[in-house]
Amino acid sequence: MDFNEIKVLDEENIVGCYGRFGLGIESGEGARCRSFDGKEYIDFTSGIGVNLLGFCDEKWVKAVCEQAGKLNHTSNLYYTAPGTKLADILCKKTGGVMKKVFFANSGAEANECAIKTARKYGSDKYGEGRNEIITLINSFHGRTLTTLSATGQDVFHKNFSPFTEGFVYAKANDFADVESKVSEKTCAVMMEVVQGEGGVVALDEDFVKAVAKLCAEKDILLIIDEVQTGIGRTGKLFGYMNYGVEPDIVTSAKGLGGGLPIGAALFGAKTESVLGKGDHGSTFGMNPICCAGALAVMDSVNDEFLLDVKRKGDIIKTRLEAMSCDITVSGMGMMIGVEIKGKDSKQIVAAALENGLMLLTAKNKVRMLPPLNISDEDIEEGLEILEKTLKNMQ
Ligand SMILES: *Cc1c(COP(=O)(O)O)cnc(C)c1O
Repeated sequence: MDFNEIKVLDEENIVGCYGRFGLGIESGEGARCRSFDGKEYIDFTSGIGVNLLGFCDEKWVKAVCEQAGKLNHTSNLYYTAPGTKLADILCKKTGGVMKKVFFANSGAEANECAIKTARKYGSDKYGEGRNEIITLINSFHGRTLTTLSATGQDVFHKNFSPFTEGFVYAKANDFADVESKVSEKTCAVMMEVVQGEGGVVALDEDFVKAVAKLCAEKDILLIIDEVQTGIGRTGKLFGYMNYGVEPDIVTSAKGLGGGLPIGAALFGAKTESVLGKGDHGSTFGMNPICCAGALAVMDSVNDEFLLDVKRKGDIIKTRLEAMSCDITVSGMGMMIGVEIKGKDSKQIVAAALENGLMLLTAKNKVRMLPPLNISDEDIEEGLEILEKTLKNMQ
């Protein structure tokens, strides 16, 4: 099939909820991929933060293929090795702050689990009324009805009502506002430490610390949504580790599987025993192949790797700020937002793609989520393409 045939078939058969670029990808290796007509692209998107080790990393492919030939799936009625090992590694790498894991298949599903757990914690300890969760304005927590409700952006709250009740929204980086939303009904505060879809906005350290302290004092659970920030993206295993706080629940997905669908909710001391038999489940959760992929990712994301993420993030930031336009860079590690004064982010991304560089947007910003193991040469080549693109747009 050539690209045009695929495009026609896609438009005939796939629900039209995606705004696709006029490009089809056939194969990829590392931070580079090829279209059906053989043109090469540098990837600063990682499939929206998923391909942490790039396209088809050798170790990852081997782990996944070996597992596929050994045990593809059984149910959660039986014990299996890959997910068990993965949970052990995840907990150990938080220094024991996280003690138990529930595996799901996506970020939204991991967040659903966190939300259910927070509500059960509230109801077990304080009775039925303690079920409200404070989330932040401009947040993003997923596309299911409940995680859309949790998402503090009005654009997502159209057409699909009625929504799940029990969410109140507070202003990011405004502690007084969070405090004013707390009541006896509050069971949790849920936030991303770097808001991804909301425009790559890193929360202030003082704010995050103050919220964590308030939560601890009032026995309100602190849920950190690390679906985008997690597994090394910010230069630490989890984004919260940049803030010196200890959450009660952490959710992970996107990059965890390195290209296979997986989600995880991690529970700390207060929450590890909240869910009991029959309280929650997921048919595909803990799938051995997905967990084998995640184990290969976790094996790569060691301390040295994390330092390199920070180094490369700094290189990108410095190089961007030296470009000859009015650029503001936000984010943390290799989760980067770029605001270019007087320019539309969607136009920049479309023009850069024409020139061979894949980028994302986040609101009015260009967003970069390169594979974390991208080489310095590929970074430089990508940034040269961006620089040229911006020059041609002037
Ligand atoms: C992408 C994302 C989600 C949703 O993840 P899915 O796997 O698409 O369900 C939730 N929270 C954050 C912070 C995200 O970036």
